[in-house]
Amino acid sequence: MKQNNKQTSPQTFICSECGSAYKDKEWAEKCEAWCREHKSCNLEVISHAIENNFSKQQ
Ligand SMILES: [Zn+2]
Repeated sequence: MKQNNKQTSPQTFICSECGSAYKDKEWAEKCEAWCREHKSCNLEVISHAIENNFSKQQ
C-alpha cells in the first residue's frame, strides 16, 4: 500500500505589502496595489483573504 504523506498545500498568493494571503492571484494583486497606493488596507479586499493580520490580532 502506497502512502503519500506529503501534504500539498493549496497555492496561495501573498500581498507583499500587508502579508494577507489569497487563493486568487487577482485579489492578491488588488490588495497589493491598494496597500501600496493608500498605505492602508481595503477591508473589502481583505475580506477575500484566507488569512490576514486583522483576524490574528483579535
Ligand atoms: Zn495588502
